[in-house]
Amino acid sequence: RDRVHVYSDGDTELIRHHGDMHLVATINRALSDGRFRLIAQPIEPLQGSAQQPPHYEVLVRMVDETGQILIPDHFIPAAERYILMPSVDRWIIRQLLETQAENLRTWHTRYPDRFLFAVNLSGTSLDDEGFLSYLKRQFNDWAVPFATICFEITETAAVSSLERARALIVELADLGARFALDDFGAGLSSYGYLRDLPVHFLKIDGNFVRNLVTDPVNRAMVDSINQIGHILGLQTIAEWAEDEATVESLRALGVDYAQGFGVGSPLPVDGFQLPFSSDKSD
Ligand code: C2E
Ligand code: CA
Ligand code: CA
Ligand code: CA
Repeated sequence: RDRVHVYSDGDTELIRHHGDMHLVATINRALSDGRFRLIAQPIEPLQGSAQQPPHYEVLVRMVDETGQILIPDHFIPAAERYILMPSVDRWIIRQLLETQAENLRTWHTRYPDRFLFAVNLSGTSLDDEGFLSYLKRQFNDWAVPFATICFEITETAAVSSLERARALIVELADLGARFALDDFGAGLSSYGYLRDLPVHFLKIDGNFVRNLVTDPVNRAMVDSINQIGHILGLQTIAEWAEDEATVESLRALGVDYAQGFGVGSPLPVDGFQLPFSSDKSD
């Protein structure tokens, strides 16, 4: 009552700095000890025949020294600020190839035109000069075709280094990789940039999808993003499809794929089984 507390920006900066330094040390140790876990969430086709197999998005978790599992929101922002994400992204790609090379090669012989895993790339990886040659070397070493992978980049990250992002997309797409523009509609929502980025898939941000059934504005947003994606020749993916009613609305709107807890939760990539693997006839 009789006191005045003064908080300056400097204080919050300092607090964040201390928190960051601890996290940075934890991330660095996780990198050297290989304490990241990969999980994969299905992305289901909504249109066409029921025999189309799903794709999977790879999501990362970090295990700290006490065995606690940290979600990306709790370590990726600091990893971005301290330019550790290029190392994390490289680790993830290496780990995915190391554990899934055989599945990826098998998949490619069955479905040469479809990717199996979608992998998120951080904006700092797009800016990392050695990243492209790292990718080429890894895919070559594991004899895995780029066509089995879709790289997800966010609009914000891509636009902050538009020329470099464009160049990376063009070069990797030439080798067969697909690209998806993630979280579309959440940040800049600039349809202009969409024309500048030669991606193959548009992921409609989950915040529009979640309340699709009850919110007419969100429904109109999903509808228009989906239509514009199609006019531009892209396939559309709606994220955060949390229940069956949402999945059915997405199907009725003509959205190509759905991902979310209503379709399937992420499961560990270790022990991953190819879909339809029991069906040896196709
Ligand atoms: P994102 O790429 O948009 O990934 C989708 C996020 O939505 C995931 O959170 C996923 O678990 C969550 N999600 C899936 N279905 C639903 C649903 O039905 N409802 C709701 N409310 N959420 C759902 P997660 O795994 O915590 O990842 C958060 C973000 O962290 C990702 O957003 C992505 O930007 C980043 N991230 C995750 N894994 C990686 C990675 O391996 N590399 C990079 N660079 N970033 C990653
Ligand atoms: Ca993503
Ligand atoms: Ca997303
Ligand atoms: Ca997101």
